[in-house]
Amino acid sequence: MPIAPARHRPAGVKAPAERRREQRKAHDRKRGREQPWRALYKDPRWQQAREVQFAKQPLCERCLRVGRITAACVVNHRTAHRGDEVLFFDPSNHESTCKRCHDRTIQREERAAMRSVLASGLV
Ligand SMILES: [Zn+2]
Repeated sequence: MPIAPARHRPAGVKAPAERRREQRKAHDRKRGREQPWRALYKDPRWQQAREVQFAKQPLCERCLRVGRITAACVVNHRTAHRGDEVLFFDPSNHESTCKRCHDRTIQREERAAMRSVLASGLV
């Protein structure tokens, strides 16, 4: 296995991996300040609600609708909770999804919904 030669880095210049780690931490801190409801995802009630949802439906419900069998790994909120604890913990608002469906389809839907709300001038 080839080994890359050592690179000179002037004093005070951090390694790229360390810079990325610090940027990620700063991003997480900023997100935590702007969206304090994100702490709900660390609540033991949420951990239990996730387990209950996966026990009830271990497959991605979105994939099932189109005939694909995919293991679920994300519990999605059917109606965006936006910090509303009742919606957040309501089991009828939970949907088992795979990461792909959650990150692509559902996030796209939520962005489109947000755009239409912004376009309507209600916010
Ligand atoms: Zn899926």
